[in-house]
Amino acid sequence: MLHVDGSCHCEKIKFEADIDAGKATICHCTDCQQLTGAPFRVVVPVAKEHFKLLQGEPKTYLKIAESGNRRLQAFCPDCGTSIYATSEFNQEVFGLRVGTLQQRALISPQKHIWHRSSMPWLQSMDTLATFEKQPS
Ligand SMILES: [Zn+2]
Ligand SMILES: [Zn+2]
Repeated sequence: MLHVDGSCHCEKIKFEADIDAGKATICHCTDCQQLTGAPFRVVVPVAKEHFKLLQGEPKTYLKIAESGNRRLQAFCPDCGTSIYATSEFNQEVFGLRVGTLQQRALISPQKHIWHRSSMPWLQSMDTLATFEKQPS
């Protein structure tokens, strides 16, 4: 188990959790792409008893998938940072958004899901011009 601390960008919402970093997953589904504005999202599951909200109260958006699956998407009402998603009726497991965790560099994803909608250009990321900061 890895102890992690997380917060939204404006720091109104803070939480801590104990996770199994080996369960981190990259999700390439079209919902994650649209909700994040990014090509994919990295998620790690945490059981309710290992997740503790320390400060703030997330707002939730109910996402209903084509399959009828109903997922609550929790986010900061002020800065919009995604915090977690959970089942609408059975809130036992939270899919934490790894980008909100201070320890995110230690959490290396172990698998890709919904790879059928992954961006084709991800295969050639290593060949792009690279700058350590914003180029001038
Ligand atoms: Zn915030
Ligand atoms: Zn997804």
